[in-house]
Amino acid sequence: MAHSTPASDGPERPDGTAYPRARSEAEWREELAPDEYRVLRAGGTEAPFTGAYTDNHDVGVYRCRACRAELFRSDAKFDSHCGWPSFFTPLAGDSVILLEDTSLGMMRTEVRCASCGGHLGHVFTGEGYATPTDQRYCINSVSLTFEPT
Ligand SMILES: [Zn+2]
Repeated sequence: MAHSTPASDGPERPDGTAYPRARSEAEWREELAPDEYRVLRAGGTEAPFTGAYTDNHDVGVYRCRACRAELFRSDAKFDSHCGWPSFFTPLAGDSVILLEDTSLGMMRTEVRCASCGGHLGHVFTGEGYATPTDQRYCINSVSLTFEPT
């Protein structure tokens, strides 16, 4: 797994190809609100239990807040009680990119949007949640836009 760096470090995916919806950091700064930029482009994390979608149970699709790519569906969302929206799988395997993240002295797996490279959150495996995958995609609300269907 490729090593994680802040999304703002470059426009390339770990395999060397360009993110199809990449933009310059100047453009992202203009486009995104400061709290969105801090998470999506600088790898920040919103405070737990503060996000708009943590307890959202409506049916629909969660898109990338930066580039609008479809990332998660409500039928894969579950109540993890961890303080952030949690999904047991992305909408499709290639809608996100996973990177090794050793920041904060921990070994974690970072989740990014495969279309624009925006930081979404982290994925954790083997925590014992009663879901089909035993994975928890722990995603910042501020990285997502919910669209009811
Ligand atoms: Zn995106």
